[in-house]
Amino acid sequence: MEKREQLYEGKAKKVFATENPDCVIVSYKDDATAFNGLKKGTITGKGAINNRVTNYLMQLLEKEGVPTHFVEELSDRETVVKKVSIVPLEVIVRNISAGSFAKRYGVEEGIVFDAPTIEFSYKNDDLGDPLLNTSHALALKLATPAEIDAIKAMSFKINDVLKAFFKNVGVDLVDFKLEFGKTNDGKLVLADEISPDTCRFWDSKTHEKLDKDRFRRDLGNVEDAYAEMMKRILG
Ligand code: UDP
Repeated sequence: MEKREQLYEGKAKKVFATENPDCVIVSYKDDATAFNGLKKGTITGKGAINNRVTNYLMQLLEKEGVPTHFVEELSDRETVVKKVSIVPLEVIVRNISAGSFAKRYGVEEGIVFDAPTIEFSYKNDDLGDPLLNTSHALALKLATPAEIDAIKAMSFKINDVLKAFFKNVGVDLVDFKLEFGKTNDGKLVLADEISPDTCRFWDSKTHEKLDKDRFRRDLGNVEDAYAEMMKRILG
């Protein structure tokens, strides 16, 4: 696959056109941001780790029947994915209280839920990705009712698969963010990434944080945590 002009540069990835109108190449960067871009930094090696971890997990999900945008890993940092139009919703699934959930509802982190929760925010940096419910998403025509139903079902399925996978490698999957897209032929697929940037991972025994919270909260050993997660996932 030939890399052509850059189509887009986001906070953590660049996207390039290819000779195939149905495919693009994503290139993962080491740049890290938090708090809607207010905090900026670099996590050395992050791009390669997030690329490889995302591709591994996307292939696992495909095997379990979840359609994804993954096509082919090209190199350490670069992957061919199906070109999609992103549904402008960030989907967050939680198994344990943490982050904005704990803050919003005034509870401590670490409460294990009886059943996973799901929430949506409107993917819009200018507005700070505001939380919304599905009736708001429908009013704003961000997705159709059928798409919202499919996104919910896929998100809970993804949680089941990932929770079990991470349990096996000694990690509690606390919460994560998903994005979905529509391919040129109208199919809804899982897109974006699944990585320590977009998930909270706690060591099952020590409860040590092995994710981007180490960067957000200045906990140190950020690179080590990303490397440890790659080791546990890829073996
Ligand atoms: N998350 C993300 N991108 C965002 C917001 C959240 O990937 O723009 C992930 C985050 O890493 C965590 C989960 O979604 O795994 C839930 O995040 P939360 O709503 O608690 O927000 P935060 O505390 O990160 O602001």
